[in-house]
Amino acid sequence: MPSATVNQGREKKLINGYPWVQKGEVKSTSGKPDDGGLVAVQAHDGRFLGIGMYNSFSRFPIRLLTTKEEAIDEAWFVNRFERARNLRKSFGFRTDSLRMVHAESDGIPGLIVDKYGDHLVVQVRSLGTEQLTHFWMPALKTVFEPESIYERSEMAGREEEKLPPRAGQMHGTTPEVVEITEEDLKFLAPVHNGLKTGYYLDQRATRSLLGAMVRPGDRVLDTFSYVGAFGAFAARAGASVTCVDILDLATSTAKENFELNGLKGDVVTANAFEFLEEAPEGSQYDWIILDPPAIAKTADRRQSLKGAIHKLVSLALPRLSTGGRLIVCSCAYQLKLPEMLDTVRMASFDLQSRLTLENVTYQDLDHPAPLHFPEGLYLKCAWLRKDEPI
Ligand code: SAH
Repeated sequence: MPSATVNQGREKKLINGYPWVQKGEVKSTSGKPDDGGLVAVQAHDGRFLGIGMYNSFSRFPIRLLTTKEEAIDEAWFVNRFERARNLRKSFGFRTDSLRMVHAESDGIPGLIVDKYGDHLVVQVRSLGTEQLTHFWMPALKTVFEPESIYERSEMAGREEEKLPPRAGQMHGTTPEVVEITEEDLKFLAPVHNGLKTGYYLDQRATRSLLGAMVRPGDRVLDTFSYVGAFGAFAARAGASVTCVDILDLATSTAKENFELNGLKGDVVTANAFEFLEEAPEGSQYDWIILDPPAIAKTADRRQSLKGAIHKLVSLALPRLSTGGRLIVCSCAYQLKLPEMLDTVRMASFDLQSRLTLENVTYQDLDHPAPLHFPEGLYLKCAWLRKDEPI
């Protein structure tokens, strides 16, 4: 196998489990590693560090698969998938749909596998992972015995891997829309055409808690609602709910989801910023959920996201009742919780509104966040109560 040597000092993070080697950290290669092929990774003194996938085009030319001297083959993937599946069994989820494989966070760089009922939807994020398809496809079938497997690899990150966007059937037949169950609610997940792999599995814990906290008669505004999952949990608790999303597919599916569960809710197709701006000020809502997408994909993503959160909070607070709750979410790992809270605080200062942090919730447990891989913790939601003015 060709090999790659990392700069002195850089071996430590790999030994500690961090899976990515950056461009400037590769000292040399030997044996001409192929882009997308496997490399043995070595420390500057020749010590074996592990086996990784190589791609000279990528910002991360090496993604480590293992720190052991072992074959990377179908059996290796079977083992990793079993590990991921057993972990999830231990959580006792009340759903038939969950993220079975969360890429680096499950020790399988570049591969996402979401289970929707009996169907799997996969996302391939790196060239090396794509070139190992002949190993992981049969392993997926062995471990999960899915009725079908569908690919949704259309994310922007593939460009820098020199991979074109791709979507389509890999095994069996996946319906365009899969009906899934979360607790006692049913949702339609548009797995062919929806966002990500079709549904936001990562917000499960937060919407479940919302469902438990909302009181009958509360007025709930679910902005960036996608297919109305937060809204449906609130409506089930007896709230009067408005969902707002800019995407037709999201709002049409949200309406169907309300109907499917015999729930009532207003669903509006609109830009959430404009919707908030145009809503009259005063105590319109007892709960406002702000769950914007990660916005800009560049280095100044943090700044643009902070700007968006500041603006959204500024628009939401005047429309929230005293004692009402604001849930502010961010799914960009670049924006850390303290910085997100600072942004919310600044917006509340400007309005002389006082907020108390009551809770922070994160991506649900099927999206593990290993401490040795900080990028793995991406989604956080701050729960804030609007206090009486002093
Ligand atoms: N809260 C959802 C997930 C939200 S994902 C859930 O738990 O399932 C972000 C959503 O924001 C997407 O559905 C996207 O269509 C929507 N969106 C993006 N920009 C928007 C805008 N300016 N106004 C309203 N919705 C927007």
